[in-house]
Amino acid sequence: MRLNRAVHAYSIPMRVRFRGITQRTGLLFEGPAGWGEFCPFEEYDDAEAAAWLACALEAANDGWPAPVRDRIPVNCTVPVVSPEKAHEIVARSGCSTAKVKVAESTLEEDCARLEAVRDALGPQGAIRVDANMLWDVDTAVAAIKAMDKASGGLQYVEQPCHTLDELAAVRRRVSVPIAADESIRKAEDPLKVAVSGAADIAVIKVAPLGGVRKALEVAEACGLPCVVSSALETSVGMAAGVALAAALPELDYACGLATLPLLDGDVTSDSLLPVDGYLPVLEKAPGPDRVEEFVNDVITEAWIYRYDRVLSMLSR
Ligand SMILES: [Mg+2]
Repeated sequence: MRLNRAVHAYSIPMRVRFRGITQRTGLLFEGPAGWGEFCPFEEYDDAEAAAWLACALEAANDGWPAPVRDRIPVNCTVPVVSPEKAHEIVARSGCSTAKVKVAESTLEEDCARLEAVRDALGPQGAIRVDANMLWDVDTAVAAIKAMDKASGGLQYVEQPCHTLDELAAVRRRVSVPIAADESIRKAEDPLKVAVSGAADIAVIKVAPLGGVRKALEVAEACGLPCVVSSALETSVGMAAGVALAAALPELDYACGLATLPLLDGDVTSDSLLPVDGYLPVLEKAPGPDRVEEFVNDVITEAWIYRYDRVLSMLSR
């Protein structure tokens, strides 16, 4: 699709440094079906960015499959912050599930943060942790056991190690369920990853998997219960993740789609923020009526250049 309608490149500061970034940038464009968001992380090459563009083009050109539910339960996200700050984030979120980033600080700090999260959630709440592949097998086993205790029980641990073999080895040695994230979305062919022996749950992300329809195929192919998570999009891209969660035949877990509070602002006045732990399902993405606050002319040229390059890869 040629960018001949409205196009905006945005740059929004992160409230707290998250996955190594302090600024979130991307491109918003409008097509006949609505707005799409193209926001692969800066370090991604064009080949990896191609799926992200396919996702944005689906939103702009085709729209999404019909939903089977009208609201999506979501978790709040706790970055690497102090226990006090973690408590505040969880208490303020209204969510009954919390996802806590671990393995970037010491085990003691992670456990102290988990205790604070449990205190804020109460005994009924669910706590999951994400280690983003940072552990080896032995470290993972020891950390998961300690964190399971400190948190008063973990719902699952996301991507403790790098490879599927390592995930399988950890899974044999702990009772906490294992979720695969990077193993699926970074796979050469996400439709062919044999996650069944290595994980109990699949984390699926709409942009890295190439859109709602592609992600639904991946969910079916992996045969595991799925959790839909964001890639730190604005509300425009987040609406596609919500559409995926809305279209999944089964949804047993809260989704990681309430990450908007990690950004210091949003491009729309219709922000996808959770109310009582749920996000509404929208027919299409909200229009970026507040994008002017975050538009940056310097990056616009670079993003349009990236769009054109990645588009030419997609059409090859
Ligand atoms: Mg993850």
